[in-house]
Amino acid sequence: MSFNNFGLSAALLRAVNEQGYDTPTPVQAQAIPAVLEGGDIMAAAQTGTGKTAGFTLPMLELLSRNAPKGHARPVRALILTPTRELTAQVQESVNTYGRYLPLRSMVIFGGVGMQPQVQKLRRGVDILVATPGRLLDHMRQRTVDLSQVEILVLDEADRMLDMGFIHDIRKVISALPKQRQTLLFSATFSDEIRKLASGMLNQPTQIEVARRNTAAEMVTQVVHPVSRDSKRGLLSKLVSEGNWQQVLVFTRTKHGADRLARQLEQDGLGAAAIHGNKSQAARTRALAQFKQGKVRLLVATDIAARGLDIEQLPHVVNFDLPSVPEDYVHRIGRTGRAGYGGKALSLVCVDEGKLLRDIERVLNKSIEKQVVAGFEPDPAERAQPLFKKPMGRRPAPGGGRRPQRGRPASAAGRR
Ligand code: AMP
Repeated sequence: MSFNNFGLSAALLRAVNEQGYDTPTPVQAQAIPAVLEGGDIMAAAQTGTGKTAGFTLPMLELLSRNAPKGHARPVRALILTPTRELTAQVQESVNTYGRYLPLRSMVIFGGVGMQPQVQKLRRGVDILVATPGRLLDHMRQRTVDLSQVEILVLDEADRMLDMGFIHDIRKVISALPKQRQTLLFSATFSDEIRKLASGMLNQPTQIEVARRNTAAEMVTQVVHPVSRDSKRGLLSKLVSEGNWQQVLVFTRTKHGADRLARQLEQDGLGAAAIHGNKSQAARTRALAQFKQGKVRLLVATDIAARGLDIEQLPHVVNFDLPSVPEDYVHRIGRTGRAGYGGKALSLVCVDEGKLLRDIERVLNKSIEKQVVAGFEPDPAERAQPLFKKPMGRRPAPGGGRRPQRGRPASAAGRR
């Protein structure tokens, strides 16, 4: 199987070739011909499967085949994604693969001024890559016209639903022509996604490239049981002694990400934090520093990390376990990408026991536990119930009520 078999134009093949890809990934092998035939697709594919090229290449091919005559430049393709980062990355792919085609694209996301976007829209673009909220702002102000859209892509649809974009998505779709091609990509297919899909897709080709959670199987996973207060010390030790140079660290909250990055800096390890409260410029700068190796650790919340395209990441650390088990799978999917092995470590303290069991249930396997010498969990913590039980049933050793360390996961704000 080669990219030459799809009937893509020489301009696209040249760009693909320059990327050094010779074999289409499984999702590309299925999605590219299906999209070129003009039908709708519904694809279960996670980040790291090559899904972006899977929809971008045939989309560019179709747009360039039917280029409109004259000077008018209506928006003909709309790609909706959940986050600013993903928006920027998808556009980067559109630019890369479309390098030799006369098509214009732009990104639309919130947190930056409207006016530059308005001006750019006015000059005319063929392809919009947008987050739903800001796109709706433009629709309300009538600064964007979506009446000529031929192709709609929903990328990471499950994540958009998780983030509460369902109403925004429906509003955007109601402004699009009924006659259009719709491509829906989602890591998982929940009932909610199927419901969304049934209303907007027309006899879609279903594409399933790999069983859910396969990313998890390529990655070496280990749990280090440790006291909450010793997590940072253990992380610093592992990074220093292992001489790890590029580590993506997940925390559950934005505040936790900031604090940990500061503390790691104090330990003499270059670290930056990336989360939704940071300005776009700060996030872009942190990611660039991390990619260039100027900082060794990037501390991120789940939403901020979603869609970050960092290739061959060798180490992912769960400083806190995520409150949703599927997020664990997304997180560790950041390592071991495109066939490279990777290592995912989780620093798990006593009040995360239930989260760990939920994750192991989703993975359908137990994760190896390794206690690191010098970082054994406090024996008193080990004897504590995993979650607070009604008082009096199981007193903590010593009989007294120990102050609770950390917060029970169920009370922790998500991200
Ligand atoms: P995605 O799942 O779209 O985020 O892509 C994951 C990574 O795979 C990206 O860094 C792409 O550059 C890379 N990639 C996409 N298609 C191919 C291919 N056919 N061969 C090798 N790498 C690829």
